[in-house]
Amino acid sequence: MIELRGINKTYDNGTLLHVLKGIDLDINEGEMVSIMGASGSGKSTLLNILGILDTYDSGTYKIEGRTIKDLSEKEAAILRNRTIGFVFQSFNLIGFKNAVENVALPLYYQGIKRTRRNKIAMEYLDSVGLKDHASYMPNELSGGQKQRVAIARALVARPKVILADEPTGALDSTTTLEVMALLRKINLEGMTMIIVTHENSVSQATDRIIRLKDGVIDKSEKGIEYV
Ligand code: ADP
Repeated sequence: MIELRGINKTYDNGTLLHVLKGIDLDINEGEMVSIMGASGSGKSTLLNILGILDTYDSGTYKIEGRTIKDLSEKEAAILRNRTIGFVFQSFNLIGFKNAVENVALPLYYQGIKRTRRNKIAMEYLDSVGLKDHASYMPNELSGGQKQRVAIARALVARPKVILADEPTGALDSTTTLEVMALLRKINLEGMTMIIVTHENSVSQATDRIIRLKDGVIDKSEKGIEYV
């Protein structure tokens, strides 16, 4: 469902920095993959391109057969909202909204009325085991609970793929395992999942590890592992 061919990206801040150097990558529907690589290897750049948050200089990027190139900001936003759910290390919950309101937010932007969006949001909160915490504010939730709310928010718009950027980076090891178990459960229900991580315990819990090294995918013996 995701196809990258020869993706190049160079930043120009006075000097040119060639960050992605011809990335070829296919991710199948229903796969759960991780992206690893040293700091500065281009993981965030790649994730931003996959998430239609940034453009690339050359190559092709197709998602569900649709080529992502030269979109206007509005077209990119519409496609992004329909296709991609984001999960971040820092959760990015709105501090003055409670759990169910946070989950309902993407539905608000879709113009769905309050009663209906709260009902749908409640179902998703239930699916991540937090129905009883619907009225809790983010600062009343643990890190793991916050991430579960954020995962419910990512799912509520029924995306085709979840992009998670260090989703367990702020969590202890026990909570990391719980969040990974939740992501796997969602994956087994059919969701394609791409997780950027530097933690082996996280990447080992995915189907495939994609290693970025100096802007290319490392295809050496240990580069792509099927676990
Ligand atoms: P990673 O996520 O693997 O740490 P990044 O994709 O964030 O790597 O960054 C790759 C390289 O590109 C780094 O050297 C970083 O400093 C540089 N970089 C990232 N974003 C920008 C930007 N917007 N402008 C200029 N350089 C950038």
